[in-house]
Amino acid sequence: MRVLITGAAGFLGSHLTDRLLDEGCSVHGIDNFSTGDPANLANLACNPRFTFKEWDVCQSFDPGRVDYVFNLASPASPPEYLRLPIETLRVGSIGTENALEIAARYNAGFLHASTSECYGDPLEHPQTEDYWGHVNPVGPRSVYDEAKRYAEALVMAYHRTRSVNTHLARIFNTYGPRLHPSDGRVIPNFLMQALRGEPLSIYGDGSQTRSFCYVDDLITGLLLLARSAEHLPVNLGNPNEFTILECAQEVLHITGSSSQLCFESLPEDDPTRRCPDIAKARALLGWEPHIQLSDGLARSLDYYRRKIEARV
Ligand code: NAD
Ligand code: UDP
Repeated sequence: MRVLITGAAGFLGSHLTDRLLDEGCSVHGIDNFSTGDPANLANLACNPRFTFKEWDVCQSFDPGRVDYVFNLASPASPPEYLRLPIETLRVGSIGTENALEIAARYNAGFLHASTSECYGDPLEHPQTEDYWGHVNPVGPRSVYDEAKRYAEALVMAYHRTRSVNTHLARIFNTYGPRLHPSDGRVIPNFLMQALRGEPLSIYGDGSQTRSFCYVDDLITGLLLLARSAEHLPVNLGNPNEFTILECAQEVLHITGSSSQLCFESLPEDDPTRRCPDIAKARALLGWEPHIQLSDGLARSLDYYRRKIEARV
């Protein structure tokens, strides 16, 4: 089995690469390093079943015959997609179309990394897959949210009219080693701040919620979905919901840090609540996460400690 992964040098892409190589697949990775890190793939330099091309997926490309395409390329952190707004729209639209064309050409399976952001600032709670969402189409986050919603429509069109065997994973906040220490998402921010003894930056009053999934659980879910017969979106995430203040307390507890909390302004359109209903993933895939936040944070510590030692 030869697999193409776009966004292979990113957080999720590099873990997915490792898992597929462990299973005996050959993996061809593509990444333009816009938010990814070559260090995430450094352990694979000598692996004969791994090949890599530095490339922007918005430029058409042909990786040769592949049996499966995982389309993960896209900035994913709010500060990064706000830094790269047009690039984010282009990779969600043109990049996804290029990846779908490859799947169509080689009759390959296709999984797209979609997101809970498709639900926007949700009015229904927890979020089920049949909720259509509450998205500001012109706010700052729209570059990500609407790119992902467009991509879902494009994927369904290739499935319906070109018979591509597609899958849509609506991924909720996922964390773990290789989530870049300076990419601005909440868990790397808090872990780096706690380990450095700096104040933890709480945006708003910290009452907004997120539901955090550890990367190993998420990768298991992605692979089960990729091998399933389901073409409509499936939520993948951990349904245990935390306020951001509770998340900060958990980080302080796991690190043993005595950092203070500091309160900063809430980004525009920051969703108030987010929690996946994973009944569909449980029923269709027999999947649910097993690693809870305290355990996942503990498993992530070494990576961030090493980054601090390396002064990243
Ligand atoms: P990441 O930023 O670590 O990885 C994204 C990768 O895509 C990076 O390596 C980046 O360089 C690459 N990339 C971006 N634009 C590209 C382009 N034009 N051409 C080639 N490569 C490009 O983020 P991540 O957390 O690993 O996210 C991976 C995917 O999963 C994204 O599509 C993201 O939207 C989705 N997702 C992630 C989460 C999460 O919590 N981690 C949640 C929902 C959805
Ligand atoms: N957040 C925070 N402090 C930080 C980074 C993020 O309080 O240093 C908040 C952010 O406002 C949001 C939540 O944590 O409410 C999750 O943010 P993240 O950027 O990780 O992901 P999002 O779910 O917003 O895409």
